[in-house]
Amino acid sequence: MPSFVINEKCDGCKGGDKTACEYICPNDLMKLDENLMKAYNSEPDMCWECYNCVKICPTQAIEVRGYADFTPLGANVVPLRGSDDIMWTVSFRGGTIKRFKFPIRTVAEGEVAPDGGFGEGTGTLDDQLLFTEPDSLKADELWTL
Ligand code: SF4
Ligand code: SF4
Repeated sequence: MPSFVINEKCDGCKGGDKTACEYICPNDLMKLDENLMKAYNSEPDMCWECYNCVKICPTQAIEVRGYADFTPLGANVVPLRGSDDIMWTVSFRGGTIKRFKFPIRTVAEGEVAPDGGFGEGTGTLDDQLLFTEPDSLKADELWTL
């Protein structure tokens, strides 16, 4: 089921150039109504429930109606993103609340090497090998066609 915005919680990201949910949605579905300063999912049919907008929203204004296998018996699932971890709060219909905390990084913020430490890479665009191969596979050479 697609994401939806709880209007009372959305502050339109305080009128920045681009809202956090617009920035993060891989399908470009989230839009801001500039008159109301409220975001909305412009094409719910295209939403694949990736939860990116839910996780990034600074005011926790976005929710997803999860499928039964993920949120049994209509439970509500809300993530709270920290700098080092994410806390998921699951509220069941019967009133039971469960929280799960998971680490979201293995290196300090801002210290990830985008190239994975492989520098310029070992292949070229015409190469059948991937950017880091064969080094990342710890092989001297890989078979190619
Ligand atoms: Fe509103 Fe949250 Fe989207 Fe910002 S990220 S515009 S607060 S729904
Ligand atoms: Fe976009 Fe994912 Fe949010 Fe759906 S759940 S609107 S695909 S970011």
